[in-house]
Amino acid sequence: MLILYLNNVSIMDPEGIVIRIKTPAGDMDSSVDSPSLLNFNDLLVAIRDVMPEATVTAFEYEDEVGDRITVRSDEELKAMLSYYFNTMNEQRMNGLMPDPLQIFPRAGKTPGIRNIHGLKVNTRPNPANDCTHAVQDTLASNSLKKSSAELKRILTNGQINAQDIHYQEQLGHGNGGTVYRAYHIIGKRVLAVKVIPLDITVELQKQIMSELEILYKCDSPYIITFFSAFFVENRISICTEFMDGGSLDVYKRIPEHVLGRIAVAVVNGLTYLWSLKILHRDVKPSNMLVNTRGQVKLCDFGVSTQLVNSIAKTYVGTNAYMAPERISGEQYGIHADVWSVGISFMELALGMFPYPQIQKNQGSLMPLQLLQCIVDEDPPVLPVSQFSEKFVHFITQCMRRQPKERPAPNNLMDHSFIIQYNDGNAEVVSMWVCRCLEERRAQQAQGRV
Ligand code: ATP
Ligand code: MG
Repeated sequence: MLILYLNNVSIMDPEGIVIRIKTPAGDMDSSVDSPSLLNFNDLLVAIRDVMPEATVTAFEYEDEVGDRITVRSDEELKAMLSYYFNTMNEQRMNGLMPDPLQIFPRAGKTPGIRNIHGLKVNTRPNPANDCTHAVQDTLASNSLKKSSAELKRILTNGQINAQDIHYQEQLGHGNGGTVYRAYHIIGKRVLAVKVIPLDITVELQKQIMSELEILYKCDSPYIITFFSAFFVENRISICTEFMDGGSLDVYKRIPEHVLGRIAVAVVNGLTYLWSLKILHRDVKPSNMLVNTRGQVKLCDFGVSTQLVNSIAKTYVGTNAYMAPERISGEQYGIHADVWSVGISFMELALGMFPYPQIQKNQGSLMPLQLLQCIVDEDPPVLPVSQFSEKFVHFITQCMRRQPKERPAPNNLMDHSFIIQYNDGNAEVVSMWVCRCLEERRAQQAQGRV
């Protein structure tokens, strides 16, 4: 057992964790008493001490589907720990012993540095580190990978059973149904399950299930992963990927450099849906989800009404993010989604709904008459004194009254605001999500005192 001691042990940390460094010679377990004090360099130095022959510059961990995520900075380390704590809690809540946090060192070209942080490493050999065990371990991790691939297959075939789901906390309640965080016992993963009561015939249930088929085909990093849907009595449950940062509607005013990266993801997600001839139809902050890895994904898009002639003719409900042409019951198409992008980002930038006369108390559905001002008035404009010219222009273009004057999908991706922030820098969003969640936790803790 390799013990990794940190110089400062914080009494604030509820408990230590075990980090398993996967090396070519086998596993090295390190107990970290104070994970909140752990920084990237400490860990890198510890890895270099157990792998002196390699020049390790980064390491990776695996997410719930076995994808490797690289850690190169303190912020990415924070995101990894946050992901791990969530997994650990899930395992505890389900009566399981938490697995150690497994990390996979990555060799780079830069020379190694000395243990400048004075980190003490006890290199007593681990009996589990002989070659036999290393081989067994490789086999075990292969079979783990297989099982996660298998799991993916099972999940995407719609075979999540109601009895294998443990419902945990309620995440929110929308107009249609209630969303829960849930744990899929067989898949050992956290899900978001939306439960919608529907009193319909079996025939209609079948029709809905077949309309949902398209969700299995959606494969984009900007669209929430769909796992399964099933009916139990008069309720449909839709199981999707859980996003630990939740939806954007609960975040206060979001700074422009963060919003820029979020906008890139949203525009990418919509462009993907439009390429499948799917209109989103419900673009709004509560349908934009974020996680501590800095990913941004769209959810709740209107798959059950597929776009056939590139213009949808049906008109259901009235929500405050709908384009003027939808509010007045006219035909609408892709450009209506573009309006909703504009008004959503304007709200997220200002920290308030851009039409002050529209009070959104709960949810976004409003009586039609209250939304008439969106049809009658000139669209609001972001104050130029507070936001960049590119951002103001982007919003103004998206919120043009005439649908045809709004940018088409390609023009949206090519807008200078999107180009400026299309740099793949997920860390900006990740840092911001982590900080907001920490603030929220601190406020909740204060509220409890
Ligand atoms: P509407 O019913 O009009 O779409 P809504 O989007 O606010 O309104 P729901 O879609 O039912 O309502 O979602 C309720 C809340 O659940 C969301 O606001 C979000 O905070 C949370 N939520 C939904 N899906 C997920 C998910 N995949 N991961 C984490 N949180 C989620
Ligand atoms: Mg929603």
